[in-house]
Amino acid sequence: MGKIQVMEEWLSNKIAAGEVVERPSSVVKELVENAIDAGSTSIEVFLEEAGLTSIQVTDNGRGMDEDDALLCFGRHATSKISKEQDLFRIRTLGFRGEALASIASVSKVTLKTSDGETSGLEVHLEGGHVISKTPTAFRKGTDITVSQLFFNTPARLKYLKTIQTELGHSIDLLNRLALGYPDIAFKLVHNGGVLLQTNGRGNVQQVLAAIYGMQNAKKMIPFSIESKDYKVHGYASMPEVTRASKNYISLFVNGRWVKHYLIQKAIVDAYHTYLPIERYPIVVLYIEGDPQLTDVNVHPAKLQIRLSKEQELLPLVEKAVREAIRGAIHVPLAQKKE
Ligand code: ADP
Ligand code: MG
Repeated sequence: MGKIQVMEEWLSNKIAAGEVVERPSSVVKELVENAIDAGSTSIEVFLEEAGLTSIQVTDNGRGMDEDDALLCFGRHATSKISKEQDLFRIRTLGFRGEALASIASVSKVTLKTSDGETSGLEVHLEGGHVISKTPTAFRKGTDITVSQLFFNTPARLKYLKTIQTELGHSIDLLNRLALGYPDIAFKLVHNGGVLLQTNGRGNVQQVLAAIYGMQNAKKMIPFSIESKDYKVHGYASMPEVTRASKNYISLFVNGRWVKHYLIQKAIVDAYHTYLPIERYPIVVLYIEGDPQLTDVNVHPAKLQIRLSKEQELLPLVEKAVREAIRGAIHVPLAQKKE
């Protein structure tokens, strides 16, 4: 008899969780992205002790029926892709079908959901095992609470940083998602205190004001440019508004917040000599293009992507930002001439 055995699902989920669920903010990311994919217009996030005690995400999206409310915790269970071609034209933030399975395997989860047609269901899980499921009256939408994260993975629990650091990661994440989705009203509450609130009216400048303050938001210059394959638009700060890190540059590719070294470099290069040494601008940049030009399946957290036609995109980004700031700097001069 051979020695090889196929792992039980709860064990493989726990292993996958090592990659997908690094810290409380990873849970927030997966839950909020699910809420966005569900077509929500309002998403509220409640954290207790930076999410170490509990993370609750409430949305008004399409919800799930009874079958899906249980299936969603299965490994590779997704409603977002079903055939190979789908992988090359991904329009949703999720598609791997592993976030809920992974999260549930390392925490205690309560899910309440309803699709608005059938009555709702409330499901409790511990360490990935379903403890109870009860029909419940619930409005259309979903409410997930993840508590005691890493209760069964002590090594991961030990590795977590201070409450302030962990909270910082979630605030940063919510800021980016709010910038990425100005049409969605976001609210972030920590230990009862509201840390971020946007109105969901689609106004990026309002979101910028909520995050960076009204004074800075007023000094953000809009830009928009197109090439054959890409549309680039966003807001760039006047060179007088600077920060000590590049972390205030937010990039979105087809709605997905990503980190991309070369695009970030193109933005910083656009400011050229306008910035003092080791100071960086606040920029929010949206790139729209055929999903076939982007490969998001690089890492489970999907923060990295590979882009085709970079040689077309990078100069376009640099041009858009450079023209925006040059235009803004020269406006007072031009007005003087008149
Ligand atoms: P993925 O997002 O990659 O599909 P997840 O494990 O994050 O995988 O979620 C599994 C499935 O559960 C989703 O495909 C979706 O059908 C359903 N789901 C999860 N969260 C929500 C939500 N907030 N509203 C509606 N459906 C949801
Ligand atoms: Mg997901």
